This record gives sequence, C-alpha cells and structure tokens, in this order.
Amino acid sequence: MTSPDRVPIVGGNWKMNTDLPEAQSLARALTLALAEAGGAEVVLCPPFTNLLAVHEIIADTPLQLGGQDVFWEERGAFTGEISAAMLWSVGVQWVICGHSERRHLMGESDEIVNRKARRALDSGLKVILAIGETEAERKADRTEAVLDAQLSASLIGLEGSALDNVVIAYEPVWAIGTGLTATPDQAQAAHSFIRSWMADRRGEACSRSLRVQYGGSVTATNAGVLMSMPDIDGALVGGASLKADDFAAIVRAAGPSV
Ligand code: PEP
Repeated sequence: MTSPDRVPIVGGNWKMNTDLPEAQSLARALTLALAEAGGAEVVLCPPFTNLLAVHEIIADTPLQLGGQDVFWEERGAFTGEISAAMLWSVGVQWVICGHSERRHLMGESDEIVNRKARRALDSGLKVILAIGETEAERKADRTEAVLDAQLSASLIGLEGSALDNVVIAYEPVWAIGTGLTATPDQAQAAHSFIRSWMADRRGEACSRSLRVQYGGSVTATNAGVLMSMPDIDGALVGGASLKADDFAAIVRAAGPSV
C-alpha cells in the first residue's frame, strides 16, 4: 500500500471511446458509483469533445477532469491541436503526457512529451507523465535503461516545486489493452526504480512525495494485489475505466479506506 505521505491517485483514460450521450451517462454512473469511494484522488480523462459535458456533471463532486493530450504552443495556426488554456477553460485540471499510444502510434518523442508537459505545468495544469518499456525492451533486459532515458528526457527543465504537480504512470507497453498485466513484483520493481531515479536526480523529498501509478490491464480483480505494493500509488486505467462499477472497485482498492 502506498505510503501515508502520498494520496493515491487513479486515472480513467477513456481513450477514443464515448460519444456525447455515452460520456454523460458514464460520468453520471461514476458519480454514483464513486460517491462512497473516498480516499484516492480520481481523474476522469474523456475525449476532448466530452470534457465540458463531463465537467458539468462532476463539478460538485471530488472527481477531477483530465485531458488525454495537449499541444505545446499557446495558440495559433496548429490545425487540430488543443492548448492548455483551452483545456483549463472547460474545467480540466490534469493532462496525460506521453501515453504509449501517442508515443507509438503518433510518433511522439520524449522531446515532444517534455514540451507538452512543460507547457501544461506552466499553464497551471497537473501532468500524468506516462512511461514504459515495450515487450522487446523487457525481453532484452532494457527496462531500466528505457525508463531512465524516458524520465531523463521527459523531465528536462522540471525540478523542484514543478514536480509537485507531476504524477508518473508506469505503463509497460506490452500490458496496455492486452489483458496481460505486470506481476505485482514486476510492477513494484519498476516503481522502485522510478522512485530511486527521482531520489538520485531530484532529491529524497521529491522521491518520497512522488506518486507513481501503474497502468496496463488493471481490472477490478487484479487492482487489490497491485495496489498492495509499497511503491504503487494508484493506477491509470483504460478499458476498465469505461465500466463504472469496475472503475469504482479499482478506486476503492487504491484508496485508504475512509
Ligand atoms: C491506458 O490506457 O493507459 C491503459 C493502461 O489501458 P488498459 O487499462 O486498457 O490496459
């Protein structure tokens, strides 16, 4: 279980799912299902087109709103992109940067991830920074090297109090949307590496307070054992975040009971 110094945090990444009525109905179901699930912070990340509608539904609840991506420029001729200020204006507090689907399907480099994270933080948004190795990298025993490289490049220029507003999501690429989950020991080893990395590069205090979520086929069934590991401070959830009861069970597994 996460240290008492850190409030667990669970994100629901709806990805490119839910049209407007579906998003409204899921958000309403989640406000009911999570009414008694206190203890963990919860961030819902619907598609851009549903952010305002979900904001209106969750506005008087502890649930928070996140964007799935952000662009690094403030405004201008960037067709199709969404700025941090636009997200902020519809009630968004968080944004996911560097999700593996953006890295691998849209070709986002660590440099791009870093630019996005910096812009988001400069604009007052908090960042869920996703990192993780591919199956080939794990098989080649390169997991720590990959995490080191991703952290080093994605966190350039982010130090001190800026990191208070950053959560790391460790998401092994081979476990995302595949039904394969890292074992609790595999996940704990990676999370412990990330925390040590932060202690070495940004100091003990930062490492102690850093929240590291696990993501990769988290379900209502496996959440409890994953969340029982000492360096796992919550989850970033894809598929199971689309089912209100499953997501609520994951939130309950993550949070200290109230
Ligand atoms: C994710 O989208 O970050 C994710 C971990 O997806 P899933 O839970 O479906 O594996």
